[in-house]
Amino acid sequence: MVVLVTGASGQLGQALQAIAPSYPELTFHFASSGEADITDRSGLDEIFSRLKPDFCINAAAYTAVDKAESEPEKAFAINKLGARNLAEVCHSNNATLIHISTDFVFDGNKETPYSESDSTHPQSVYGQSKRDGEREIEKILPRHYIIRTSWLYSQFGHNFMKTMLRLAQERSSLSVVNDQMGTPTHAVDLAKALIAIILSRKEAYGIYHYSNEGIATWYDFAKKIFEVNNIDIQVHPIPTSAYPTPAKRPKYSVLNKSRIKKEFEISITHWEDALKNAGL
Ligand code: NDP
Repeated sequence: MVVLVTGASGQLGQALQAIAPSYPELTFHFASSGEADITDRSGLDEIFSRLKPDFCINAAAYTAVDKAESEPEKAFAINKLGARNLAEVCHSNNATLIHISTDFVFDGNKETPYSESDSTHPQSVYGQSKRDGEREIEKILPRHYIIRTSWLYSQFGHNFMKTMLRLAQERSSLSVVNDQMGTPTHAVDLAKALIAIILSRKEAYGIYHYSNEGIATWYDFAKKIFEVNNIDIQVHPIPTSAYPTPAKRPKYSVLNKSRIKKEFEISITHWEDALKNAGL
């Protein structure tokens, strides 16, 4: 089976590249934005007719959550129209699309884990652009998996963990938000789950939630990052109101993973164990 990965230079794209050699039964083609620009429909037509992928994993996205508030056209061009382009090109080439979405499609007003059937209500331009992308795919392409995930981190790309480790070298104390709840997700664990879906050969299309297990605030996550890395630093919990950002984030965005666990027999690691085993 041929698997085309778009957005290959991003965090998830690099995590997929790192584990790809463990799956010799799959032929991967990793395309970064220079080779496959998802906003360029004719470019996608060319690459699909050349590679004839059975699956496309779309790891490409506009992910600058705060910047999106001031450049919504760019966020929608990539996250909505880019998703539409991929759905159309997959449809005309009989390929299955595995698209990554986000916990930011929810408003965060719930107090129990969000399941796939819960109503969406994005609070930011980024969240809305990602939700619109989901809808485009659902309209155009029956053969789709939309995987919503949360709080991705890894040794690759830009993420909260790497920011904390950098700041720890520059400062002796840090203040971190302690009233937003979610689940950190190791990008390599997500990458493995995506491949498990492909290898299952099931045709159980639709939306799924995937994160590591457990629940944390950004403060909890920061404390654990320093503990695991033996870094002695003072971390102070602060409310979101003390750290204003252009984009509003959900207060609670824990995802219910029952559907993906049951359908694909995936077992999911607790976020604290994933962090310990991340080999960082
Ligand atoms: P990154 O920002 O690390 O990577 C995104 C990649 O998309 C970049 O390599 C970028 O390439 C590429 N890209 C941007 N525009 C285009 C385009 N027009 N055509 C092709 N490629 C493009 O994101 P992550 O790997 O962290 O995120 C992966 C997915 O997970 C995304 O869908 C994101 O929305 C979702 N997600 C991420 C979370 C997180 O915490 N990071 C949380 C929840 C969901 P270039 O650098 O060349 O511009």
